[in-house]
Amino acid sequence: MTKEELWQSLLAQIQFNISPANFATWFKNTGILSREGKDIVISVPNNFSKEWIENKYHKIILTILHNIDSEIKNIKYEIISSKLKTNQRCSDNKTNEINQLEFKEFKIDKTTNLNPRYTFENFIIGSFNELSHAAASAITKNPGLVYNPLFIYGGVGLGKTHLLQAIGNEIIKNFPTKKIKYLSSEKFTSEVVMAIKNHSMEKLKSTYRAVDVLIIDDIQFLAGKEKTQEEFFHTFNTLYNNNKQIILSSDRPPSSISAIEDRLRSRFEGGMITDISLPDFETRLAILKIKIQEKKINISQEVLEYISSNIKRNIRELEGALNKLIIYQKINDKPVNIDIAKSLLKNSVLNSVKVVTPQKILKAVLEFYDLKEKELFSASRRKEIMKPRQIAMYIFREELKNSFPSIGRKFNGKDHTTVIHAYNKISQEIKDNQKTEEEINLIKQRIYTI
Ligand code: ADP
Ligand code: MG
Repeated sequence: MTKEELWQSLLAQIQFNISPANFATWFKNTGILSREGKDIVISVPNNFSKEWIENKYHKIILTILHNIDSEIKNIKYEIISSKLKTNQRCSDNKTNEINQLEFKEFKIDKTTNLNPRYTFENFIIGSFNELSHAAASAITKNPGLVYNPLFIYGGVGLGKTHLLQAIGNEIIKNFPTKKIKYLSSEKFTSEVVMAIKNHSMEKLKSTYRAVDVLIIDDIQFLAGKEKTQEEFFHTFNTLYNNNKQIILSSDRPPSSISAIEDRLRSRFEGGMITDISLPDFETRLAILKIKIQEKKINISQEVLEYISSNIKRNIRELEGALNKLIIYQKINDKPVNIDIAKSLLKNSVLNSVKVVTPQKILKAVLEFYDLKEKELFSASRRKEIMKPRQIAMYIFREELKNSFPSIGRKFNGKDHTTVIHAYNKISQEIKDNQKTEEEINLIKQRIYTI
């Protein structure tokens, strides 16, 4: 494997592990400068990137490179200015082409924060997302007047960000004078924190209250952040009362976000709530087809079917697998056949087999309900703790087929009758209460993506 090939397979794999925005920001203009036996020198464009990559991504880079070639043991980073780099790269047309393939998509508009790659045209609709899509599409024709707020929820990598941004991009097309702002709830939180620190709260308030369409992604991260929630509540009311459109996404429905104020939750519940679930085989295949069309690449039906029948957890992983094959095809200048695809995707396919472990169940339940392990294993009979505990026991039984006494032992030596009681109670609640069923489904989805 040449240096370039090594680096391209690293890029392909690292995409699985970090967000597209981080990938674009930190891995642009990087490469392998030299390799001598077990030592690799990675070129980075500036000091800032160097520090960031060293601090945040060193471990994962080393792990991936070591997995590709077990001889590699040491990594150093060196700053190479981009001008020099371009000259170097020009000599290697193929690498350049691949870089374009990876990076041309990220031209984010500075005022709206919207990425033009997310559109309705390249968004595939299936039964798993059709209600969310219909509501989204209605909004683009009449922002502020139909579903307000629109609240879309679903597990990771299933298209929430894509749909939210597509709404923004479409509204700009239909109503060029409308002011649109897209951001994650984490970004919103950090702006509120900065504004408090710099005494510029009034300025922040007026910025947000002047927009026509406010889109906030991953609203679940507002949980526990009281000051931000308060500011968001007032912004929400001002916009809502002026018929401005608000669109939100989350990994769970409003009723399951603990640690948000009830007044905010009831605002979220006051509009339209839709979900996105898992796509089926045909939809996964259709998504792959649209992606290769966009990238103007040919890949055989057989290979596409292989990917869609084996990578099922979410669309992000599906795309990651496809990118791996595309990069291989570009580097080697020959089409990927089914055997090559199988060998390139061996690890991804292995990872996507559902392996449920007790640790994964516990992690998913704790994350979902924002609880600490100590609380779940305590003797507390408070509803917010008892119900998650019973749900965890129920999932242990359902997914791992553990015996009641052995589940009891895992939960700090609880008696098996307590576990049977929990199991029966949750089984009954699933029948009586749709919300419980939905929560358990979301937790199960989460278990499979851990
Ligand atoms: P989420 O925000 O739910 O975690 P994203 O919106 O980031 O998921 O989607 C992950 C990737 O899958 C993105 O690259 C997106 O373009 C793609 N994707 C998701 N849903 C669809 C769809 N219905 N059609 C085409 N591509 C999709
Ligand atoms: Mg997202």
